[in-house]
Amino acid sequence: MKKLLKGVGIFFILLIIIIVAIPIIVPKIVDKDHNKVIQPPPYHASTEATELYQNLDFIADMHCDALLWDRDLLKDNDYGHVDIPKMRQANIAIQAFTIVTKSPKGQNFDANTGESDNITMLYAAQGRPTLSLTKRALLQCKSLYEFANKSDGQFFVITSKKELQEYLKKRAINKDITAGFLGVEGAHALDGDIDQVQVLYNHGVRMMAPTHFFDNKLGGSAHGVSGEGLTAFGSNVIKKMEELQMIIDLAHCSPKMIDDIIDMTSVPLVSSHTGVKGTCDNVRNLSDKHLKAIADSGGLISIAMFEQASCGEDAKAVAKAIQYTIDLVGAEHVALGSDFDGSVTTPFNITGLPLIVEELLKLGIAKEDIQMIMGENVKRFLLKNLPEE
Ligand SMILES: [Zn+2]
Repeated sequence: MKKLLKGVGIFFILLIIIIVAIPIIVPKIVDKDHNKVIQPPPYHASTEATELYQNLDFIADMHCDALLWDRDLLKDNDYGHVDIPKMRQANIAIQAFTIVTKSPKGQNFDANTGESDNITMLYAAQGRPTLSLTKRALLQCKSLYEFANKSDGQFFVITSKKELQEYLKKRAINKDITAGFLGVEGAHALDGDIDQVQVLYNHGVRMMAPTHFFDNKLGGSAHGVSGEGLTAFGSNVIKKMEELQMIIDLAHCSPKMIDDIIDMTSVPLVSSHTGVKGTCDNVRNLSDKHLKAIADSGGLISIAMFEQASCGEDAKAVAKAIQYTIDLVGAEHVALGSDFDGSVTTPFNITGLPLIVEELLKLGIAKEDIQMIMGENVKRFLLKNLPEE
């Protein structure tokens, strides 16, 4: 009997150790495994590129999924692509933190359905609540604000023109501060309820992509099965976003949905992270027709930095996509949209961005154009398109 009790005791102790250890160990293993770099830091760009980079006034990136992984972004982690110390080291003025709430099992670029979901398991392992997609999104919003609150004035969350202007004033005196703004990747985060657009807005979200890897209530994803355009619900969500001045992000939309959104809107549109078919022809990337339409809207094409977007594993492939887009629509519509921490392998982490400048210089791109692409375009865009306050 005593032996049995001892056995039961050991079993429960082991069980408790497992329950306590899972949220600490498993998310870190998954995070490390999903967000690799081809080359580990430190990164060494040419002297000319490094100097130009260091003197850039405003460096911006339109897409990263760092909030998904429940990583402490106040720490300089030895894995993953983005955290606040690395942003400061990389002289980043603003980074978009985009929120993923659901991703199908066996996620691929060609055909996915929304029947399965990997994030449920990830959230469970992280000890985060898993039930509603809106709640998952709100949790990530709150965590960005928590990082800002605990950052000792080193990191700010920007939601309006007024906040951006105040931040720019602070940064003119002290360049060692950095900022972020919130986006949502896939409006299934609304749980099918249009009123949640306002709820997300109230929690700081200023950009949203209608779809992610699967078709949802708004319409077809580029990687779904229907190929549909906007549904009636999708049109209503887009109208609501225009009304709230929430930036409409076309990344991952089906071509038909992109057409529908271009037809029904009069606001500048963005793709927060994309490649271009002109240098890398696949369903993930934008056609010339859509690149031109985004530019015509006064919008931004933010170039992503992983193999499926650029058909290469280095800064050179990214620079090639940038050059192609400049040649087609002009440098004033081109930006960076890395997809750092987006379950992709990137050539480098955020501290490797000077390597892009080096490749752009090699291609003979003018320094004024490099300035615009590296962030001035995003600054101008946000100052024009964010809500007043
Ligand atoms: Zn994405």
